[in-house]
Amino acid sequence: MGYDALHAYLRRTEALSQIVGRLGWDQETVMPEGAAEQRAEEIGALEEVIHARRTAPAFAELLAAAVPQDDVQRAMVAQAQRSYDRATRIPADLAAEIARVNAISQHRWIAARKAEDLAGFLPTLQQVIALQAEQGQALAQGGSAYDALLDGYEPDMPSAQIAGIFDAMRPSLVALRAAIAEKPAVAEVQGDFDPALQMSLSTELAVAFGYDLNRGRIDKAVHPFSSGSGADVRITTRTDAADPFNCLFSTIHEVGHATYEQNIRPDFALTPLGNGVSMGVHESQSRIYENQLARSPAFCSWLFGRMRDTFGDFGVSEGDFVRTVNRVAPGYIRTEADEVHYNLHIMMRFDLERALIAGDLAVADLEGAWNDRFAADFGLTVTRPSQGVLQDVHWPAGLFGYFPTYALGNVYAGCLHAALRADILNLDDALANGDPSPATAWLRTHVQQHGGLFAPTDLIARACGGVPTEGPLIAYLQQKFGSLYAL
Ligand code: ZN
Repeated sequence: MGYDALHAYLRRTEALSQIVGRLGWDQETVMPEGAAEQRAEEIGALEEVIHARRTAPAFAELLAAAVPQDDVQRAMVAQAQRSYDRATRIPADLAAEIARVNAISQHRWIAARKAEDLAGFLPTLQQVIALQAEQGQALAQGGSAYDALLDGYEPDMPSAQIAGIFDAMRPSLVALRAAIAEKPAVAEVQGDFDPALQMSLSTELAVAFGYDLNRGRIDKAVHPFSSGSGADVRITTRTDAADPFNCLFSTIHEVGHATYEQNIRPDFALTPLGNGVSMGVHESQSRIYENQLARSPAFCSWLFGRMRDTFGDFGVSEGDFVRTVNRVAPGYIRTEADEVHYNLHIMMRFDLERALIAGDLAVADLEGAWNDRFAADFGLTVTRPSQGVLQDVHWPAGLFGYFPTYALGNVYAGCLHAALRADILNLDDALANGDPSPATAWLRTHVQQHGGLFAPTDLIARACGGVPTEGPLIAYLQQKFGSLYAL
């Protein structure tokens, strides 16, 4: 009885939270421009209601009275307790101050990035960092402030464990990118790619990768994203007439996120177990769909024909196509990075933000630390803040502890890919026919259906038969790019 009352309360809270998500989706896709201020007020009003439910004494009483009868109910209560603890440890005036400063900071960041004015932005960033450190201390209750922030994105993953994985990866990745840099550049696509045809091919790919359009939809937005859970999971993508891969692979990436949400057990819908369990596991699904599956030589051999049917000749031969899709080139911008460089972008941000929150790195020294590390890992000199410290929204928005989950997602994807290849011996035959379904079915069974039932590392360990390490990802990258670039 006690458990049922808690369950009903959680469902109502989660339903409200889904509505906030849908308002956000609307804002990025079809909302009229003049509605921005009113929308902020609407979302704020709803978030106030949700926060009140998450910290209410009535919620604490329901938690105390709930007597779980099985593993699912135990996981449900544990997730709900965790949410209550995190929400109630942050004083209301601190939460309000964080919301206020982060909103101002994001606004100033847009202007500072445009004007290349890092010095003018640093006092604001200093304020954001101080508030995040304070929040981390409130959450940590004597433990590490950074770890407590990180725990909000990747539960039960201490930063020391991540540092161990990242430090082990870094030399191999630096060596790999240096070896590739010695090789001749690969062919790039040429031509004008009709946006409507890009969208129709993307939709075809989304369905092939298991996206259920009866419980989802695809729209255009400036930044691709996935939104919602259960019976309403939407994605957005974008088109660039000169670069069809942007649309195709962004779509497949978001389909990885969206099918994870769609494939969670239906009885978990609108509960704390009804969402992807962590940012890292979420990113593992999007990355494995986008990289290990869609950018595999086998799938590329099918995609080449499909693209030529759709767009005609685009200046790349069948033999060069897989190298074009997997082109490796150093660049300043994280979001444009290839598989070899991406984790290097993340690892430097992780080291810098840990030091910022711990107070070991002063904001005044951030640019120098960034640029030195960038030169060491990428062999490039940063000359403008928009190519360096000011490129990402995360720090201006107060999202400290978020970055490492991207690379952790790649590490998990490496482990899952090795495990599913061992189980599905003829996967390349299916991929070469444009059919990734044996792999997506495996991921559904071993990862996606479980939602929030298991802790992230337990989930990966159950799927892969061992504690996740960087080994499979590094082996995959060395094998794939060693072969593509004849290293
Ligand atoms: Zn993603």
